[in-house]
Amino acid sequence: MFRKLLLPLCMVLTFSACAKAPATPEAKTSKLFAMDTVMDLSVYTEDDSLMEQAAQLVSQLESSLSTTDSGSEIYQANATGSAALSPSTAELLEQALDLCEKTGGALDLSIYPVVQAWGFTTGTHKVPSREELASLLEHVDYSRISYCAATQTVTLPEGMKIDLGSVAKGYTSDRLIQLLREKGVRSAVLNLGGNVHMLGTKPDGSLWRIGIKDPQGESYFGILSAADQAVITSGGYERFFEGEDGTVYWHIIDPKTGYPAKNGLLSATAIGAQGVYCDALSTALFIMGPEQAADFWREHRDFEAILVTDRNEVLITPGLVDSFRLVEDSPYTLTVIAEE
Ligand code: ADP
Ligand code: MG
Repeated sequence: MFRKLLLPLCMVLTFSACAKAPATPEAKTSKLFAMDTVMDLSVYTEDDSLMEQAAQLVSQLESSLSTTDSGSEIYQANATGSAALSPSTAELLEQALDLCEKTGGALDLSIYPVVQAWGFTTGTHKVPSREELASLLEHVDYSRISYCAATQTVTLPEGMKIDLGSVAKGYTSDRLIQLLREKGVRSAVLNLGGNVHMLGTKPDGSLWRIGIKDPQGESYFGILSAADQAVITSGGYERFFEGEDGTVYWHIIDPKTGYPAKNGLLSATAIGAQGVYCDALSTALFIMGPEQAADFWREHRDFEAILVTDRNEVLITPGLVDSFRLVEDSPYTLTVIAEE
């Protein structure tokens, strides 16, 4: 009762206060649980229906992309070897296959059976035998996924299964940002389980400040100031288990070996305009390790990156020199990746 009375009053106040200056809408926030993660959306809008539309988009994408929901297109492709795809899944698959190619196969959508063998899909973890991994790796090769654009159909060779999990959240944030932009929103920040995607600046025109999670602690090791960017991190600290011998195994798998990628990085953050690209890159750069990731940046230069090495170094691309800083008393040393 009390709330109902109060709400119209607030609106009157906002209106009268904004009679001269253009109105700055209040942030509408919502928390969703989807794609195995908590999503926090914060959107500066007066349109009450937008949060509901955003939630519907997320749940529609989730139900097409899930590997475990028997109604999903990906489930069907994995179960029967082929599936007709909805426009969204087709678009994501096309983008993801290009990114598998661009990252030289560090990203490989067909790694799924190996991820399953390690138990990351069920939470019942185990260390697979070398023989099991070798036989599973025979079916891992994204270049053998056939996609027919005319019919929007994907066909998989015998024994292959795919998973778009490494890029699904990045694609979802791209679609959410697109929806909000179309509806005239100029300011929003979406946090999809650590994948941050910003639309515009803060309503007052200042930059958003994004804390980058310390892979070795609970807090942030650095702060990035940015606008209109996706900031996406992958790390070994997200999902992992400890084997009987004390070795830590995590959920990002090197397709060359079938083992969790241990190539010198504890986390990789990719920053750029497109969520799906940054999501693919955060996974792929993590797998590549510091030297190869730096070479990849030198070759492409269409993103920025923050890499945390297993020697307590933070490596940043030159474009971040003015926008990124370590927190005070950081245990990390900061190095700028050389241009050449
Ligand atoms: P998260 O989804 O935890 O934020 P990522 O975006 O890095 O992290 O995606 C990791 C997920 O992608 C894993 O849970 C696994 O299902 C899948 N995956 C693991 N290794 C690869 C790989 N080399 N290529 C593509 N997908 C991978
Ligand atoms: Mg990723």
